[in-house]
Amino acid sequence: MNIAMVGTGYVGLVSGTCFSETGSKVVCFDIDKKKIDGLNKGIIPIYEPGLEKLVKKNMAAGRLKFSTDLAGNLNDFDVVFSAVGTPPDEDGSADLSYVLQVAEEVGKNMNDYLVFVTKSTVPIGTAEKVKKVISEQLKKRGKNIDFDVASNPEFLKEGNAIQDFMKPDRIVVGVGSEKAKKIMERLYKPFVLNGHPILFMDVPSAELTKYAANSMLATKISFMNDIANLCEIVGADVTNVRKGIGADTRIGYQFLYAGTGYGGSCFPKDVKALIKTAEENNYSLDILKAVEDVNNRQKSVLYNKLYAYYKGELSGKKIAVWGLAFKPNTDDMREAPARVLINKLLKAGAIVNAYDPVAMTEAKRIFGDSINYAENKNDALKDADALLLVTEWNEFRVPDYAKMEELMRKKLIIDGRNIYDPEEVKEHGFEYTGIGRKI
Ligand code: NAD
Repeated sequence: MNIAMVGTGYVGLVSGTCFSETGSKVVCFDIDKKKIDGLNKGIIPIYEPGLEKLVKKNMAAGRLKFSTDLAGNLNDFDVVFSAVGTPPDEDGSADLSYVLQVAEEVGKNMNDYLVFVTKSTVPIGTAEKVKKVISEQLKKRGKNIDFDVASNPEFLKEGNAIQDFMKPDRIVVGVGSEKAKKIMERLYKPFVLNGHPILFMDVPSAELTKYAANSMLATKISFMNDIANLCEIVGADVTNVRKGIGADTRIGYQFLYAGTGYGGSCFPKDVKALIKTAEENNYSLDILKAVEDVNNRQKSVLYNKLYAYYKGELSGKKIAVWGLAFKPNTDDMREAPARVLINKLLKAGAIVNAYDPVAMTEAKRIFGDSINYAENKNDALKDADALLLVTEWNEFRVPDYAKMEELMRKKLIIDGRNIYDPEEVKEHGFEYTGIGRKI
């Protein structure tokens, strides 16, 4: 099959590469010329485990190409995916301008039947808008060309994206025609040989499924953070509570870790957008409003603990921050809790020594010269008055206490992911606090 993947970001690059891995011919398009020039030279713009190897392999096999010229190549494709961004608009709704730009480009240049597939996360009714834009362009050109619009939301997780795409739990496809269904079935067949389903459904249901999935996961996180905060007040330990409720198969263990709040490019914007969609339809999604409130509050939890410890005297204190990306195995810092924390520390006059295994370039773009960038995790600890653990990268999991004692001015660890054993930390003479833990 011949596939155009429009938008070569986290989703587009991974999806395009994985489709090419199963034998389809894929061209990934982007308006960012620098990104495309880099990819053509084998430079991968994001950090994603396993991606570079797969991109290079499929480029060498001639199945994966990169281009900025969608208009000039549109005749070559059976399926055109939109994987462009859908960032939040000022009012929280999803900004569809990029998706509709792609639809316009397609309508202006297509000459044969194709399926336009929205892989970007888009609100209910977007397929109809896309259809309208393409039809209007065809009408302007005096062309009567058949096409279909399908919705195929993406569920990959940054940091495990290749595995998620190649072996998905499920594939959701919203289609309105048998012809489009057959094409999507053929395209995804190699990915469901493990027996996991392709769930065909109507387009609005597919569009809503993506938002409902992310909102459910965000709800689990905020729920657990709320319980963690209560644990601290009543003297319980959230890590025990998690085990106690996770053992119930109706609940399960996943996404029940207390922490510093959810971030990233998806949960915050998707929760906001679903609240907005409901409002536009005169409905109030009260649970999600609470999920958002709890999350906003939780992003300040590490700062509040440090502030309380030093009784508000943070000016001039050196604070080591371990982990900047919104989660391990990615360099993505969009809406990362570390951003809220660092901004608050800077405002309070603290000196920030930050370290992340892969997000340093992104951090420099965001914070410029307002913070210190450590060479490695130990470098960040020099003369530190506290260590704040924000992202649970593997390399942070087994601390070298002797080294830490030698480097730090104050033996204080504030653990935003509960990865350390409070007893062990205390045995090494450190003061410790986690999230919702009995200490
Ligand atoms: P991204 O910002 O990493 O990439 C988007 C890309 O689209 C950019 O490279 C941008 O230059 C390009 N672009 C914008 N307008 C364009 C146009 N008119 N033509 C060609 N290229 C254009 O975004 P992302 O994280 O890959 O997310 C893309 C979509 O997928 C969003 O709707 C997001 O919600 C959804 N999604 C993201 C994830 C994730 O983990 N990042 C997971 C599932 C779904």
